Amino acid sequence: MSRKVNIVGQGLAGSMLAMELLQRGFDVNIYDDGHLSSSSMVAAGMWNPVTFKKLSESWMASQLLIAADQTYRRLENKLGIAFYHPVELVRLFQNNLAANDWEEKSVHPELSAYLSDLRDETFAKEFDQPFGHGVVTGAGWLDIPKFLNGLRDHFLDLGIYQLRSIDEMQELQQNHRESDLTIFCTGWRAVNSGLFNWAPVIPNKGEVLTVDIPELSINRMVNFGNFIVPIGENRFRFGATYKLNEPDPNPQTETAIEMISGLREIYHGDVSLVDHKAGSRPTTPDRKPLVGEHPEHPGMWIFNGFGSKGVLLIPYFANHFAEVLSGNAELMPDVNVNRYWNRTVQSHASLVSSFREDH
Ligand SMILES: Cc1cc2nc3c(=O)[nH]c(=O)nc-3n(C[C@H](O)[C@H](O)[C@H](O)COP(=O)(O)OP(=O)(O)OC[C@H]3O[C@@H](n4cnc5c(N)ncnc54)[C@H](O)[C@@H]3O)c2cc1C
Repeated sequence: MSRKVNIVGQGLAGSMLAMELLQRGFDVNIYDDGHLSSSSMVAAGMWNPVTFKKLSESWMASQLLIAADQTYRRLENKLGIAFYHPVELVRLFQNNLAANDWEEKSVHPELSAYLSDLRDETFAKEFDQPFGHGVVTGAGWLDIPKFLNGLRDHFLDLGIYQLRSIDEMQELQQNHRESDLTIFCTGWRAVNSGLFNWAPVIPNKGEVLTVDIPELSINRMVNFGNFIVPIGENRFRFGATYKLNEPDPNPQTETAIEMISGLREIYHGDVSLVDHKAGSRPTTPDRKPLVGEHPEHPGMWIFNGFGSKGVLLIPYFANHFAEVLSGNAELMPDVNVNRYWNRTVQSHASLVSSFREDH
């Protein structure tokens, strides 16, 4: 008999894990409350192998990029929809220091694959950029809502999707066969759940706009602190803000006004607002995912903590986790949720404050 797996949450994490487990013959069921608290449905969907703050390669970038490219292309073919858009990212330098740093580091072995000093005349004309720009290769964006809707239809066709909210404690009391697995992929909501509330998922609110910029014809993404992503027909995703532990989940008009006036400092054509969304990223203090089995409740697992990099992290770790559950791999210690179980002396509050200092 194949092993039964209940997945709670049909965000990017739960959906991609489900696909990996189905491929390995697991008997999968997926439950979602209709994306009531979804981060995935709000996200701009960008990936970028470079961290601009310290101008360095992101954690595990080269392995993550390979897994993401293979997985998204395979799933595009399987579902028959186009949602994967590898495109270059143009970074507008904020000052001379940043421009010099780029020039120096673009020859470092770890960054030379991604940083180019290519100059694009279109960008020189379209944006105010006294310090110039550099181009990042290996970047792109994913149309996550299109992808997740396609996956939900696929799960419905297979008869393995249920639209309902799952209460963890209730689930525990139901007759859970010893061989069954329940995997919580509930994003930032893990913070409110009884079972894994010791795992430090820290909600980080973000707001994203969709804007029309009728005179701007670019096919690369632009980062100038905030980013704009061309999604077709002179329409752009524009974001995103960061606010830790913000209780108000709604988009704020003042935020949109502030963001658009920031854009007007570097771009002088017409910009009009089409849509404005807010959501919370499931971040962690060490910026690494939270994967593993509950130390006191066998069969109860978590797959979470993908922060602001779900698009790049999830394909690799969904594959890795599925290999672990198939008995073919050991869980990477770096992502094992139990790294926090042993730190119960350290309060959630102090973890949050060390995270704040870090950012
Ligand atoms: C403004 C913003 C911009 C972002 N931009 C990017 C970006 O450009 N690139 C990038 O890589 N990442 C980005 N992210 C982060 C990205 O969204 C996350 O890393 C990723 O989507 C997390 O996926 P998830 O499946 O873990 O969580 P979620 O997408 O939150 O999915 C969890 C699902 O579980 C459901 N659920 C929760 N509790 C229950 C329950 N008890 N029963 C049933 N269902 C339940 C929820 O409704 C939801 O559908 C952004 C996030 C935000 C908020």
